[in-house]
Amino acid sequence: MSSMVIDFHTHPYLSSGEFLNFYPECFTPSPEQCRDELERAGIAKICGSVILKRPYHKEEGFAPIRQCNERALELQRIWGGFYTPGFHVHPDFVEESIAEIEEMHTRGVWLIGELVPYLHGWRDYSNRNLSKILDAAGKYHMVVSFHTMTDEQEEMGHMVANHPDVTFVAAHPGERENFMRHLERMERFDNLYLDLSGTGIFRYGLVAYGVNRVGSERFLFGTDYPICNPLMYVQAIYQEPISEADRENILHKNAERILGEVLK
Ligand SMILES: [Zn+2]
Repeated sequence: MSSMVIDFHTHPYLSSGEFLNFYPECFTPSPEQCRDELERAGIAKICGSVILKRPYHKEEGFAPIRQCNERALELQRIWGGFYTPGFHVHPDFVEESIAEIEEMHTRGVWLIGELVPYLHGWRDYSNRNLSKILDAAGKYHMVVSFHTMTDEQEEMGHMVANHPDVTFVAAHPGERENFMRHLERMERFDNLYLDLSGTGIFRYGLVAYGVNRVGSERFLFGTDYPICNPLMYVQAIYQEPISEADRENILHKNAERILGEVLK
């Protein structure tokens, strides 16, 4: 194992209130420990959003969402080039979300998400308010990482189709049926990628199948750390029967191309 590895899908944390691990009793989360664990797995850089562990309701207003974004910027100050922050927007707060996009643009932040509607009290990726927000993101050619909502296959397709200036990265291949739906959308839309975090990659051959079908340029390595064990995901890519060139694309080259200057 020697390749540069960029983990496109993590949820870093500054305190236990953002530590998404399912067995938190075993850890004392700190930014230092977090980075050490990832580097031990061979991961050189990470991307992703900070998420509130507790349930959030929109009645609380946009402040808790913005706080996650501020946490992400704080972590970026601690970690420097190790971390590319992703920030949240929310369709119930269109003005606030667009203001956040403008603000992040001036700070050189290009990554929105992972968007997690199921945790942030909204649904429907074809939502008109979300569309307005994505129009603003498209103006700056931002990258939007979004959690796959398996009961919103049509809605995800509409979202990607209606915003050709946005680069979308769907999260989690899922099991075979869901993975096939991802691949069908990727065949239809050039601005859609898939990150390999979470459920799916432990099905041996999934990556090779996807590469044969849509090309290795369309997949990004991701783990969903600290929910998932990062070394398992790195090893899975090395074990898949694909070429070295395809492996390099998935492990870092695609993320470097999509996020460009931000990752340098
Ligand atoms: Zn997710």
